[in-house]
Amino acid sequence: MDEVYRMSISSILFIFLLAVPLCCVPVVPTLCVGEPSSQDFSRVILFSWDGIQYNHLMELYTSGKLTNLKQLVNETRLPILKALITDHTTETNYGHPSLLSGVGQGTTQGCPDNITVWEKIEAWNSSWVTASIAGKSKFRDQIFLEAKDDVDYWYAENVYAGVVTDLATEFVQNHSAHSFFLFVHYREPDYAGHNYGENSQQYEDAIIECDNQAGRILSTLEVKGIRDSTAILITTDHGFAEGGTGHSGSAWGAPDSDPNLYTIWIACSSGTVDLSEAANEYWDQNDVAPTIYSLIGLGDYGSRWPYIRGSALWERAFNVRDVAIIGIQLSTNMTVREPVYIGVFVENHGNYTEIPTVSVYYDGSLIETKTLVYPNAPLSGYSHGASSSEVTFTWNTENVSPGTYTISAKASVVSAEGASQPNLAYSKNETDTADNTLVDGVVTVQQLLTHCVVVDETPFQVITLSNSHVTRFNFSEPDMKISFNVTTISGTHGFCNVTIPKTLLRANATYPWKVSVGGVDKAYDKVENSTHTFLYFTYALGSHKVEIVGTWAISEFPTFVHLLLFLILLTSALITKMCKRKS
Ligand SMILES: [Zn+2]
Repeated sequence: MDEVYRMSISSILFIFLLAVPLCCVPVVPTLCVGEPSSQDFSRVILFSWDGIQYNHLMELYTSGKLTNLKQLVNETRLPILKALITDHTTETNYGHPSLLSGVGQGTTQGCPDNITVWEKIEAWNSSWVTASIAGKSKFRDQIFLEAKDDVDYWYAENVYAGVVTDLATEFVQNHSAHSFFLFVHYREPDYAGHNYGENSQQYEDAIIECDNQAGRILSTLEVKGIRDSTAILITTDHGFAEGGTGHSGSAWGAPDSDPNLYTIWIACSSGTVDLSEAANEYWDQNDVAPTIYSLIGLGDYGSRWPYIRGSALWERAFNVRDVAIIGIQLSTNMTVREPVYIGVFVENHGNYTEIPTVSVYYDGSLIETKTLVYPNAPLSGYSHGASSSEVTFTWNTENVSPGTYTISAKASVVSAEGASQPNLAYSKNETDTADNTLVDGVVTVQQLLTHCVVVDETPFQVITLSNSHVTRFNFSEPDMKISFNVTTISGTHGFCNVTIPKTLLRANATYPWKVSVGGVDKAYDKVENSTHTFLYFTYALGSHKVEIVGTWAISEFPTFVHLLLFLILLTSALITKMCKRKS
């Protein structure tokens, strides 16, 4: 995305703030952006109907079997919205932390402290009464171990929806004079699905039972005269396998994920905002908590708690899909067959949640491809600031030819037609594809070679470190010369660093080293310590013969030494022989 787009978004928002904030914004084509109501709700009830498949719910809804849900939708001009589970497996223990925090929790057992709606409301305004009434004891023992102590009323037992409703209506009756946030959980559909299957009559009855029980609470609100001041949200924690008896699967975007499991739904009081045009788009499970914040007047949740991934329903626009690579970071730009760590920064400039696939290359060759699916968080839409992520890669250069390589990164173009699962959910394509590729940074892979020179059975090691292939290494004692061939592979020039033991070959200030490449004398950098000399020089691309001439070289032993050695050996052999005879 470019700067022009950013400007147009902010000017739209500016104009929008000046205008009456309840009307459609004509510039944004697919969704009216607005605020929930001119007046904030002073009470919120969030229902979780455990384990209801989206398709099965809609079947019952369209055939008129869910009368209370129908009434809620009619009253609030809100269609039942589809949403995605984007950051955890499709399980009760992971779905509820997302629903009740908007912070993608991944697959961790137990929701972390101080991120839930209950805790945030308590900290914001202690006059609000917070409550949770759940039909599974795991809400007490496993999921909200941290939150439950901060909540005013907490109930969690393995009980029927009727028992949960009895307690919830009692709570509403006792607190109708207060502001409150009440969470209500019905276990029935999940139990029926596990025991009798998704296509069973029992599963259907369980969904209808949820609708009936919710109706009892809505009636209590009516009786108490607080129906209009109470916002209602109804959703589920996960879907259910089509015709199956389970629901455990991967989040949206994983290659093996199943839409029946990761697609959920949200029905919600939206005041006067009409979201019907965006009914075919996909929200995120993390949008539920921010929606609650927006409903009660905490519209600045994004700046208060920047780690919230979701957006209030009316803040999520659906008009642009755009992912971009904004940076590449390398652990080194020079390596000797060691791993190079590459960090690629990918950013979502659109307003849909995206799961891009990122690939990194050296020159044209692929290093690796990664998808930002769990445990990498998907990129949230552009609702309150672009979201970005660093994807890290390890480039193993062990078998890479020496040379200088250009690193580039590419994010897949997100499109409706893409064959991969992540793109199936949206009907729109990405149009700005120029920023999906970034070429940034070069890495030189050097070749470290140890050349063994043996003079009179004494080995010496000469080391070359180069971005070129080094071949035909030779040491000539009479010429006091090292020679080898270099062949460059890539980059703009070749270089070589030669380490020479002083006991093999050396020069001095008066008679310095001579380095020639292709017969032409070359300038060089010289560093030395007490034992070695290090010579560094560069050359043009191509193949060249390198010659390094010193002014002193180790000599072979003179002939008389050999003669002396021979005589000593002969004498000792004779003495040994004589001794053996005597004995
Ligand atoms: Zn279950």
